[in-house]
Amino acid sequence: MSLIEADGLTRVYEVGGGRLTVLKGLSLRVEQGEFVAIMGPSGSGKSTLMQILGLLDRPTSGTCRLMGRDVSRLSDDEGAVLRSRTIGFIFQMFNLLPRTTALHNAALPMIYAGAPGRDARAKEVLERVGLGDRLDHAPNQLSGGQQQRVAIARALVNRPRILFADEPTGNLASDQAEDILRELKSLNASGITVIMVTHEPDIAAHARRVIRLKDGAIVSDERNAPEPALKPAAASALDGALRPPALGLDEAREYAASALRAMAANKVRSALSMLGILIGVAAVIAMLAIGRGAQHAIESRLSGLGSNLIVLFPGSTNMGGVRAGQGTYTRFTFDDVKALSKLAHVRRAEGDVSGNAEIVYKDKNWSTQVTGVTPLYASMHASDPYYGRFVTDDDDRRLSRVAVIGETVLKNLFADPKQNPVGETIKINHTDYRIVGVLPVKGSSGFHDSDDIVLVPLRTAMKRLFGRFYLDYIWIEADGPGTVDGVMDAVETTMRRRHHLPAFKDDDFGMRNMSDIQSALTGTTKTFSLLLGFVAAIALLVGGIGIMNIMLVSVSERTREIGLRKAVGAARRAILAQFLIEAAAMGAVGGAAGVALGAAIAVAVSRFAGWAALVSPGSVLLAFVFSTGTGLVFGLWPARKASLLSPIEALRYE
Ligand code: ADP
Ligand code: MG
Repeated sequence: MSLIEADGLTRVYEVGGGRLTVLKGLSLRVEQGEFVAIMGPSGSGKSTLMQILGLLDRPTSGTCRLMGRDVSRLSDDEGAVLRSRTIGFIFQMFNLLPRTTALHNAALPMIYAGAPGRDARAKEVLERVGLGDRLDHAPNQLSGGQQQRVAIARALVNRPRILFADEPTGNLASDQAEDILRELKSLNASGITVIMVTHEPDIAAHARRVIRLKDGAIVSDERNAPEPALKPAAASALDGALRPPALGLDEAREYAASALRAMAANKVRSALSMLGILIGVAAVIAMLAIGRGAQHAIESRLSGLGSNLIVLFPGSTNMGGVRAGQGTYTRFTFDDVKALSKLAHVRRAEGDVSGNAEIVYKDKNWSTQVTGVTPLYASMHASDPYYGRFVTDDDDRRLSRVAVIGETVLKNLFADPKQNPVGETIKINHTDYRIVGVLPVKGSSGFHDSDDIVLVPLRTAMKRLFGRFYLDYIWIEADGPGTVDGVMDAVETTMRRRHHLPAFKDDDFGMRNMSDIQSALTGTTKTFSLLLGFVAAIALLVGGIGIMNIMLVSVSERTREIGLRKAVGAARRAILAQFLIEAAAMGAVGGAAGVALGAAIAVAVSRFAGWAALVSPGSVLLAFVFSTGTGLVFGLWPARKASLLSPIEALRYE
């Protein structure tokens, strides 16, 4: 049994509608341990023959046997497995991976063979070809001869039986060519069969046997040297199923590292293609954080109010659909408050007036809302002052000019906000008021600052400050959460009766309780999340298309690289995995950058708006998972395209 037995090989290329027959029924035997040169003019079919013998291509007709096994109809993956077990290739163009060390280049075929101990073995073969001191050099840091020696090391790393070399010295100066030939000869002497394609007679002269090709047929087959002591070919490497190894963790890590290297090498391009994902993720993270922060602020403010509160305000609500006619003014009176506070399940009721006023202290002034309140306000709104006291019934009766101020007012009027302002005199609308207390800090919801407030006695506000006869709001506190609805019904009935509203008329007042406000809030939150989801989906779509686009470019740019990887034994799955991981890495990096940017925006906005930004770990994780997933999904097509490339098409690609 010969090592290689080819019978009646033909290869027909379809070119532009026509058919080009490149090999014309060629037959050939090669024994174990031979050093064969295939010679012939350019275009005679040398490379085509070598590719068929090397399982990179399939003959159109005829059979080819390797150690007795018919290999002329192997699938892509079976060919890849056989190549990685038995065959090494050396090409004219070296075909080393750029930006990758000699050690890594030499170790590449071992990844696809799933072989352990890669670095040690790669070091061993590099030392064998005299590059022990160049392990960490990238191809662009090596001479042509050294690069070709790295390629030889790569061909040797899986201990092949056959070495195919296609014009191995074609790109080298003559002294370096000599080196390479010496290397090939010494490999042959160690038992490896060498089949070398060349068109230079002096190179061919180094071989023991020279086969001349012309127009796809063998015209001569001569021996320069006696046949070596032939050992019969052992078929052990060809036994068993030819299934590529499953993706290992080690392999995945290798692809991730190479993906990051590729990204680093094309920084601007990668950054631009990740921009879609980056912006989308940043927007979602920022909006989520701001939304949660705002919600948190509003919620804590509401919880400070107490959940049994009902507020009655003038005008109709828009809850019933139709608004009441304009021009009808609702007037709340002290008698209304008294009547309402006597209803069943009402703990207490309190009426307020409010209006804007100009506050002046020394050279500073501040415009804010002044509310006239009764002492009940403090406990109903959790507003017991932390400095000084609240307004009292006595203040109210005497129309005292005293004020309790909020934190924001304090900050804006006094140079030192830490100072206790109790006892100081401020002017409200040009009249002196004495500060008797400072309200506890309630925080801001962004739209409304609860601390930007001044409270004065109710009657002082009505008679001295605003000149009003009616109340603006009535606050009613039910005696428990369960009685709020009943109290609201009773309030409505009472107020309609007191206002003499006939049945066909709508209420001339509005009413809300805290759970209404809370559910309005959650409603807004739901709309907000829906909107966010929509933004996220569009952003990921756009981002995904960006990644798909750059991956397609990358696949066509790296066609040679893909061909090389396949030639040294990469199965489809391996190429697919490599490009998928690369796309996913892009998504992940874009997503991570987006998370960082989004968090920065959220922090900046919240500082400006005055509430805490809440970037939740869950949203970060989700954004990361989704952007990586987008990379995967949109990388699928380019990766599949790469995995389906035929190794020779890919290697010929210019
Ligand atoms: P050699 O290596 O002897 O120079 P090749 O085997 O590379 O020649 O090519 C032999 C002939 O086949 C050439 O004329 C070339 O143009 C043609 N050929 C090679 N590959 C293809 C292909 N993929 N499609 C069409 N024609 C091809
Ligand atoms: Mg050629």
